[in-house]
Amino acid sequence: MTGTRVLVLNSGSSSLKYQLLDMRDSSRLAAGLVERIGEQTSRLKHTPLAAGGDAREADGPIADHDAALKAVAQELARDGLGLDSPDLAAIGHRVVHGGMFFTEPTVIDDAVIAEIERLIPVAPLHNPANLTGIRTARALRPDLPQVAVFDTAFHTTMPESAARYAIDPRIADRHRIRRYGFHGTSHAYVSRATAELLGKAPEDVNVIVLHLGNGASASAVRGGRCVDTSMGLTPLEGLVMGTRSGDLDPAVIFHLARVGGMSMDEIDTLLNKRSGLFGLCGDNDMREIRRRIDEGDEAAALAFDIYVHRLKKYIGAYYAVLGTVDAVAFTAGVGENAAPVREAAVAGLEGLGLAVDPGRNAVRGDRPRIVSPDAARVAVAVVPTDEELEIATQTYALVGKNT
Ligand code: ADP
Repeated sequence: MTGTRVLVLNSGSSSLKYQLLDMRDSSRLAAGLVERIGEQTSRLKHTPLAAGGDAREADGPIADHDAALKAVAQELARDGLGLDSPDLAAIGHRVVHGGMFFTEPTVIDDAVIAEIERLIPVAPLHNPANLTGIRTARALRPDLPQVAVFDTAFHTTMPESAARYAIDPRIADRHRIRRYGFHGTSHAYVSRATAELLGKAPEDVNVIVLHLGNGASASAVRGGRCVDTSMGLTPLEGLVMGTRSGDLDPAVIFHLARVGGMSMDEIDTLLNKRSGLFGLCGDNDMREIRRRIDEGDEAAALAFDIYVHRLKKYIGAYYAVLGTVDAVAFTAGVGENAAPVREAAVAGLEGLGLAVDPGRNAVRGDRPRIVSPDAARVAVAVVPTDEELEIATQTYALVGKNT
């Protein structure tokens, strides 16, 4: 392998996010996003980080992912970072669902593509979009190693007691129903970075990771291995999220169908897209919710309380799962930025050794930091996540090993 650059692609149904990194120093050379692929109003936003200068935006129809990747390649070429360069070592793809089969990042070949396809029934929204990105990139650079990094992989170490639902295992197995968990790349990165922040090896610490973005999930990580996580068969289970309900009595669904007369598709949309913070108060952005609370808005205050109550329950649950906890790490948009959420989530948990120092918690920054008092038994940490760097690191390590 001669090149040192890795292109990371995160392909959604109508979007393509990308970053180009130089793995000699993990620096970011360029980053960008193509939105509304397939519509008349597509938009490409490209930030030439290495070259400096402002982000470039281009509007106009981009018909499909193939056209999107070609447009990205053109932008990169303008910065002297063309995808035909020998400096490009590999392309790393985020793939949402790897089922039980993919426990590690994997070099993509036809058999890997077939297996990702077989998982479409359990990830109908995500895996087809991820596959489109993979096929497009392979067509553009068939000679280049491409690696799939799975959101589920970090969670495949969960014991059966945590991964299985309490339903007939024959039915569960027939339909591949089990708790897979998501955001694994982030949970892996943040749990490792938290150990580093504590000056310890990942094997020597137990961490509760709270990934609070628009989607949100918690995980219990014992000695570097995930032993439980809050998302399940799909990302709907667990914490209250921006637009997802998280946990609810499954009978709510029967009730909405039988008594509410709603179709399965309508219920699916309700619980995934119109619930959570948005469903409760009409806003899913925590900044806006805090602003409304400051103005005395009761719906926003109740949404915040429900969000924090669920979060606190998961901290308690994962404390019990782990037995001893070295750190609770907050990450992603809400976890990294919303000091009131961190404060409220651990309020009253002094008996568990958990507290935040108000002064430390109020300080903003983009470096990992501890926000608990020095004397606290358990460190409360803010650890910015970096899924693209983790995908690039895993991709580069794997390709380096294979060449
Ligand atoms: P995702 O990748 O899941 O879309 P992010 O991790 O980028 O999400 O998080 C996005 C969310 O982070 C926003 O919806 C908002 O609620 C929250 N957020 C971002 N910045 C702030 C901030 N300064 N204060 C509070 N919340 C914030």
